Formats: sequence, structure tokens, C-alpha cells
Amino acid sequence: MYGYRATARMAKNIASVGVDPTGADRALRTGAEIDQLAERINRLELTVDAMWVLLERAGYSSEDLESVVRELDGADGSVDGRRSPKGTPCRSCGAMVDAGRTSCVFCGADVS
Ligand SMILES: [Zn+2]
Repeated sequence: MYGYRATARMAKNIASVGVDPTGADRALRTGAEIDQLAERINRLELTVDAMWVLLERAGYSSEDLESVVRELDGADGSVDGRRSPKGTPCRSCGAMVDAGRTSCVFCGADVS
């Protein structure tokens, strides 16, 4: 099984010799999109880690965090480890913003 980076590399090599340009171009675009998503996840993880450090410094515990995770998880009517994508996409960064919020939690843009 090839990773997406290896697939993108192969697609670039294939494109460079002129074989199947359509498929190779599509693979390159998909690889670039995956790279962008990976970068976004990396930024989100960093932000979550930083927020957790701040919360621990303020005296919050893992149990406090878990309690709020369950609360937010269940806000869509089902505690299933995921949030329903209810809301609207942020006009600035594209992240889904929960209905009722007036600003994007990711970039701070006004979404009211
Ligand atoms: Zn945003």
C-alpha cells in the first residue's frame, strides 16, 4: 500500500514522461489536497495542545475535559464521538461554525 506522498511522487514522475496525464494530474491534485488537510489537522492539533496546556495551568482536569467533550458530543442528540456538521461554513476559513455562534472558533471571523 502506497502512502499519498508516494502516490503523488509517482504521479509526478508519470506526468513528467507524458503517460496518462489526466490520471497523473488528478493524483497530483488529490495529493496536494491531502497535504493541505494534513497541514490543517497539524495546526488544529497544535492549537488543541496549546489550549489544553492553558486549561491545565488554570486547574482543569482530564475529567473536566471529558465531561465537556461528552456535553458537546451529545448536543446534536447523539453521543457517538462526533459532532453533526450542523451550522454554516465560515466565510473566512471554511470551517463549520455551530448554529448560534456569532464568531468562528477557528479564525475568529464574524459569522453573525
Ligand atoms: Zn473561520
